[in-house]
Amino acid sequence: MRKVTFPHMGESYRTFKMLLNDLGNEVILPPRPSRKTLNMGVQYTPEFACFPLKILMGTYLEAIEKGANILVTSGGVGPCRAGLYADLHKKILHDLGYPIEMIIFEPPRLYPISFIRNVYKLNPGRLSIKAIIGRIKKAWRKLQALDNAEKATHVIRPRELKKGTTTRKYKQVLEWIDSAYNTNDIIEAEAAALEELHKVPQDPNRLVIKVGIVGEIYVLLEPAANLEIEETLGNLGIEVERSIFLTGWTRDNTWKETVEGTTVKDAAKHYLPELIGGHGRDSIGNTILYSKRGFDGVIQLAPFTCIPEIVARTILPAVSRDYNIPVLTFFLDEQTGKAGMNTRLEAFADLMKRKKLKKQDKSKLWLPSGAL
Ligand code: SF4
Repeated sequence: MRKVTFPHMGESYRTFKMLLNDLGNEVILPPRPSRKTLNMGVQYTPEFACFPLKILMGTYLEAIEKGANILVTSGGVGPCRAGLYADLHKKILHDLGYPIEMIIFEPPRLYPISFIRNVYKLNPGRLSIKAIIGRIKKAWRKLQALDNAEKATHVIRPRELKKGTTTRKYKQVLEWIDSAYNTNDIIEAEAAALEELHKVPQDPNRLVIKVGIVGEIYVLLEPAANLEIEETLGNLGIEVERSIFLTGWTRDNTWKETVEGTTVKDAAKHYLPELIGGHGRDSIGNTILYSKRGFDGVIQLAPFTCIPEIVARTILPAVSRDYNIPVLTFFLDEQTGKAGMNTRLEAFADLMKRKKLKKQDKSKLWLPSGAL
């Protein structure tokens, strides 16, 4: 019996579950990464492997325990280890005695034939091409709805009057989007979700500081990998804007380069004219763009041993100086603890607030009690 699973990346699993079900597959939901996931992943991967590779290994092992035998994942291009991930996972799992099938999606604009073949492998219901395109469009709409709800929380959470209200509502509205199974229902669920989120009592006059989040895609998209940094920042009264969402990344990488993608590249050109793999160049470009848009700071999230982000980290102090924007980097791995992260975030928040207070009327700036 074919049972399909895939990596867990934030809330996107709700879309992939629907799409794979629509195509006639039995889906094993990947568990949200936990300490157990990480321990399993660390046990069977090389010590200096990238952090996402370890978490994904743990995720696959947990899904295999639940019966999965087909793993669907993305490949990768460019000069870093991303392109080797899937093959390495497959080899390790086969060596461990799990005869799984791995279906690897490469960017369709570079490998169109392989993309079509993979779609057919995941189409046991033998739907027509027209029907498959319809299902993909519907899944895309659900992914957009999920991203839009998450973006709304980034704006509302730092302004909420009662701490925790936005997070509670967000969990509730995610279920509405999750249970919508046709395009009209998805659109209605998204509208209802945004309306409900905007009902969270907020202080409209509160001046909050704004931080851009840059870095490697997996640790940006999976809250379990970044220790829920966006929620923590929101609770500190900081509005975040994440530089990568799955819809944006897919749009920029599926068919052709978009204006958004080239703008980031152009911004980084002076410091880093070459593609170095992963999202290293984007981290530089987005930091510059955030500074130009008046953000108060930038946080870089990097998996431990991630070469592109290490390169970006060595350049970011110059960018920070030249564009007068504070930058804080976190290298994340299985040793990273939430308490240590929170302490550094609180100190960074104080730094940005002091900087902002110099420019603005002190009375308008909301600070968590005892922050200054
Ligand atoms: S981007 Fe970084 S974490 Fe991802 S595969 Fe490349 S080196 Fe590893």
